[in-house]
Amino acid sequence: MSWSIRLFTLGGTAVRMHLTFLLLLAWIAAIQWMRGTPQDALYGVLFILVLFGCVVLHEFGHIFAARRYGIRTPDVTLLPIGGVASMERMPEKPAQEIVVALAGPAVNGVIALVLIMVLGLHFDASQMSLETLQSSFWAQVAVANIILLVFNLIPAFPMDGGRVLRAVLAMWLGYGPATRVAARIGQGLAIVFAFLGLMGNPLLILIAVFIFLAAAGEAGYVQVRELTRGRLVTDAMITAFEPLGVMSSADDAAAALLRTTQQEFPVLDGARHLRGVVTRKAIIEALRSENGGATPVLEIMEANVPVVAQSAHLEDAVTLLQRSPAGCVAVIDASDRVVGYVTAENLSELMMIRASREHAPAHSLRG
Ligand SMILES: [Zn+2]
Repeated sequence: MSWSIRLFTLGGTAVRMHLTFLLLLAWIAAIQWMRGTPQDALYGVLFILVLFGCVVLHEFGHIFAARRYGIRTPDVTLLPIGGVASMERMPEKPAQEIVVALAGPAVNGVIALVLIMVLGLHFDASQMSLETLQSSFWAQVAVANIILLVFNLIPAFPMDGGRVLRAVLAMWLGYGPATRVAARIGQGLAIVFAFLGLMGNPLLILIAVFIFLAAAGEAGYVQVRELTRGRLVTDAMITAFEPLGVMSSADDAAAALLRTTQQEFPVLDGARHLRGVVTRKAIIEALRSENGGATPVLEIMEANVPVVAQSAHLEDAVTLLQRSPAGCVAVIDASDRVVGYVTAENLSELMMIRASREHAPAHSLRG
């Protein structure tokens, strides 16, 4: 999280820049400078900045389309390979997903069209030679937007074209199987990208790695959603745990860390209300700090822990878990007392148990 800086906020969405994006700018400037003059370097950097402005507008295309369906997007991060909007969730209705997926590339199409009209470029086959187009900065921006439009429509899930593919498949196969098929196709295309990248485009290799991992991540996420559907949070939560008190120190937390198998410790007050969660990492860091073991847990705990009611669906807890800084979601009863919590680890245990039960031979069920 600390690897990105917030640039500005628009309509409830924070636009952040990943620090590696600055590396990209420095790299472009250096290459242009070596090949030409400082002016070329400036031109290169300006071009990248304008291009990423277009990428931000592309992301806001998605964001505003998603908002129509009541989906908020807390932030969008600029990476050297493009923008990543972190929406609260994806629309599961295929028609809605198609609208949200196409809204981004549509923005690039509009930008390109406007530039073409303003610049008076002609797009006959004869006139569209790159020579003519490369003559001006804004003509290059127009071309770049057309490339962005086409590239994003490649059906490599989870790129925009892949989302459209998933939505279309989902109309026949259902959401889960459609995601698995789209993710496989996306990973296949990522391998093709990587091979093409090896022939001289390092950025394409980066994009391939990103698509490959993102496809696996989304497929896994959807699988969790499928397995948790129709279950309550109480079906999966950890109920046997050792909490810490508000007066506890890092030393107490360290002792509890050794005594138990827990990796996160809810900090509860006298009424069993949640004050925060201390993670293993925070305990280790506190012991190294100036105050060492005497550091109060109130100072090292993560206070911003999502909470769900014990009547909540497990799905809701999974969604919150994705964004929880402490890696867990607390479960509370009607009087706000903590009755348990959910972690990614115990969700994967639930999945293993469910998978084993489904594959168990009939006789063992009678067992
Ligand atoms: Zn997009």
